[in-house]
Amino acid sequence: MGLVPMTELVKEAKQKHYAIAQFNINGYQWAQAIIEAAQEENAPVILAASDRVIDYLGGFKMVVTLVRGLVQTLNVTNPVVLHLDHGQSVARCFAAIDAGFSSVMFDGSKYPIEKNIKLTKQVVDYAHLKGVSVEAEVGSVGGVEDGITGGIQYARLTDCCRMVEETQIDALAAALGSVHGAYHGEPVLGFTEMLEISQATNIPLVLHGASGIPKEQIKKAIELGHAKININTELNQVWAQAVKASFMKNPESYNPQAILLPAKEALGKVVKEKIREFKNNRVF
Ligand SMILES: [Zn+2]
Repeated sequence: MGLVPMTELVKEAKQKHYAIAQFNINGYQWAQAIIEAAQEENAPVILAASDRVIDYLGGFKMVVTLVRGLVQTLNVTNPVVLHLDHGQSVARCFAAIDAGFSSVMFDGSKYPIEKNIKLTKQVVDYAHLKGVSVEAEVGSVGGVEDGITGGIQYARLTDCCRMVEETQIDALAAALGSVHGAYHGEPVLGFTEMLEISQATNIPLVLHGASGIPKEQIKKAIELGHAKININTELNQVWAQAVKASFMKNPESYNPQAILLPAKEALGKVVKEKIREFKNNRVF
């Protein structure tokens, strides 16, 4: 199976009250661990590359080639989406689509809502012609992601409704108190606003910054319309811990496989845990 857009996956997930997991890739090992773990769980999965790490990963084409190659080599039968996370401009979204990404997020949260809607619409018009799905952001997810620091700004209901109606996006990241990176203290999500936005827009919602949100809050977010949940920080944390442990155990080692394979196993373990948690008792 080739790469697919997320459109139908998140639509069905919202209807049936579960969520598709998105995992960010920060290197070859991430892609391999995520695809293998999802296959073992027989679950659909979204692999995402954040716009800010595309060059580090070798460029759009390199990421597409990597993910497509793994899907073919591993005979993957479950749906795999390759998604651009936090696309920084319309041109970057177009470049991802042209290279073969099956889904993109245009992050216009730094602009006033009028401009955000206008630019998002340009991305949707191009993406939908090519069978690619689009996610937009309203409000602002706080915290640090790939070096960008931002404050939390709650999504307004009227802005969300306009974004969905005027652009025909496939999923909406409505910022409601989650942050990128590590949380300081207990996260406080706006569940009242979440329910209002979910019902008024009737669109699958996306939860950014889900690493570190307690399970009960995740469950509630899924029940209230979140159909895609993004995990990045937690994967990087377990990867770093495993690499450190490899060096502590054997400080003289210079065998890359011996150093890095435990890190891959650590990634796979978290991927499986998250997939099971987000599917909310549903059997795939
Ligand atoms: Zn995000």
